Amino acid sequence: MECRYSDASLPVVCVTHGGRAIDYYCETDELAICSQCALIGDHQGHQITTIDEKVSQQSCLLDLL
Ligand SMILES: [Zn+2]
Ligand SMILES: [Zn+2]
Repeated sequence: MECRYSDASLPVVCVTHGGRAIDYYCETDELAICSQCALIGDHQGHQITTIDEKVSQQSCLLDLL
């Protein structure tokens, strides 16, 4: 399986929160989210991992987004 993740900075932002940088990953929804999503948004109470931790676990991050 081809991995498309590179060390280029991810052009990924949260559309819901006006282009806020994605910092977290919701394990519950299998979705990359920003800090606002995690703290005050739809993902309160969900199982949240930091995106850094997710990247280290799984190098094909772009496939998740
Ligand atoms: Zn957000
Ligand atoms: Zn969630």
